[in-house]
This record gives sequence, structure tokens and C-alpha cells, in this order.
Amino acid sequence: MRFYCEKCGKLYDVAGHDYMCECGGMFRLKTDEADEFKKSVSIGEGVTPLLDFRTNNQDYLLKMESLQPTGSFKDRGAFYMINELYNKGIKKIALDSSGNAGAAVAAYATAAKMDCTVYVPDDTSKEKLDQMEAYGAKFVKVPNGRMRACAAAKMNLGDAYYASHVYNPLFMEGMKSMAHEIYAQLNNDVPEYVFMPVGNGTMLIGLYEGFKEIGRLPHLVAVQSRKCAPVYEEYYGLPAAQKKTTVASAIRIEEPRRIEWIKEALKESEGDVVMVDDTDILKAKKHLGGRGIYVETTAAAGMAGALEYFKGGKPDNYRVIVAITGHGLKR
Ligand SMILES: [Zn+2]
Repeated sequence: MRFYCEKCGKLYDVAGHDYMCECGGMFRLKTDEADEFKKSVSIGEGVTPLLDFRTNNQDYLLKMESLQPTGSFKDRGAFYMINELYNKGIKKIALDSSGNAGAAVAAYATAAKMDCTVYVPDDTSKEKLDQMEAYGAKFVKVPNGRMRACAAAKMNLGDAYYASHVYNPLFMEGMKSMAHEIYAQLNNDVPEYVFMPVGNGTMLIGLYEGFKEIGRLPHLVAVQSRKCAPVYEEYYGLPAAQKKTTVASAIRIEEPRRIEWIKEALKESEGDVVMVDDTDILKAKKHLGGRGIYVETTAAAGMAGALEYFKGGKPDNYRVIVAITGHGLKR
């Protein structure tokens, strides 16, 4: 297994300290027939439920990623990435995160006895910081937003391996399991649609690559907050609006580094991007809560997006999956 540059194709060592190509291109993963995944570290990850959910006289299927061991879908990527790094002898890592990826990577890193430092924006929820602290990770609060946290992590790496959920393709590789799981849960079939909140696009990219392996793609629909919608703007060729804070803090990503891969996933899956208002996200959160499903505020964006998309009606035979990306206990 090697990394290769998505721009010029140059190959790099997966365990090396380069996290992007010297030409400025982002890495993707090149696997070989001989590669075999060896599970060395586990914290109880498993198949998440696919729950029937009827609302507005429409049927949906909720993919309960909130029930992963650390409470978010990020465990899929962290599980795979940390196992690969552990097997390659990596002992010290650093990353930046608005919270969920940091918690997921910190949990698996601790289980693998790795030294882990997470750079977080200083407005990260206390619940997420408490969680990272419980896992024994060091965290560094960085003022002025998510992009600054990313810059700080890269600048202060030292001898740590950059285990970024955005830069490191091992993370996206791990996300592919979600597609295979959905396929199995639908009795070896592919749904018509999958809706999900999108910030850095790790789930979107993972589903795209996973369903590509299966051989058929659902329409992948990215949901963004109207207050921070760079993917929407890029997809529809609109001028960049000023980015503002939103209740969906986990997808407040002003400049997604994986925009090329995100656009490819949307185009190839004949997907779409939907923008939702904060009020709709909060409404969806309350609605889900009222049905016994407690979700992270950002996670409610997926439901709000699906309801917006199908507000004029949804054909009954469409199997529409809405990804519940994080648990309500995370805020
Ligand atoms: Zn390159």
C-alpha cells in the first residue's frame, strides 16, 4: 500500500512524514492485492442499526452512526487508520479536529498506546473536550477557527505522524465499511439516496468509494448549513459568500481540502447539495428527540436536508437513508 498524489501521481510511503505531495496535491490510497487488513486494536466497533423512520407521511431509514463507540461515524475511519498505523509501528500522532474526529482518533490511539495530540478550535464543545481528555489525549486550543487549528497542527508536528482525517487517505478507506454495511442491511442492494451533513466530506467520500467497490452508486446528497456552504457554492458555481457560525458546528468547514474528491463523488453519483437553515436543523433535532432519537445538532442537518429535498413529495419506493452522524450527548 502506498499514497499517491491526486494531481501528479507521485508515490509516497504510507508511514512517512509527508502528508501531501511536494506539488501541492492531496494524497489518495493505492492498495495492492497483497494488502491484508490486520485488526490489532478494537474498542467495540460494529454494525450500526438501520432504523425505519416515518415522518411527514414519508418513509426513511436512519443509519445510526451515533451508536459507534465514541458516538460518531468517525470511528470507522479512526479504527482503520489507527490499526494500519499501529501495524506499521507508528507511536506518536497529531491531528486537528472540531471534535468528533479528534475523539475517535484519540480513543483508538489510546487503545493502541500511541501518544496523541489534538488541535481543536477554541469553540469546540466542552463535551467533546471532556471526551478527548478521558481518552488521555493532549489537546491544544487554537483561537480563530477550524482552519487555524489545522495550520497549528501541521506547523507543530515535530516527530509526530499527521493522522489527519482529512489529509490521510487511510481515514477515507475506513469509511468505506459504511457502504458495505448498508448494502448488506438492504439484503445486498443499493439504496436510491443517502443524505448526510457534509463539512470535510469524509463520509461522502467513503460512501462513494465503498459503493464503487459494490458496483452501483446511490444518489449521494450533501447537506450544508446555509451559513457555511462552500460545497454548495463550488457545486453550483456560485461566488463564495461570507462564512458564519452555525448551530451545525461540526460542518462549519470554510475551505474543505477534499473539494476535488467531494465534487467527483457528487458528480459520479448524480447527487446533489442541499442547504438548510439553522432553524430547520434545530427543528429536526427536536423532532428526532421527540421520537426517542437523541442526536448531535450537526447530525440533525441530514434529516433537515432530506425533508427539504423531498418537501414536494417522495416516491414510496425510494429507499432514502439519512445518516445520523453523531450522538446528542456530544452537543
Ligand atoms: Zn503531486
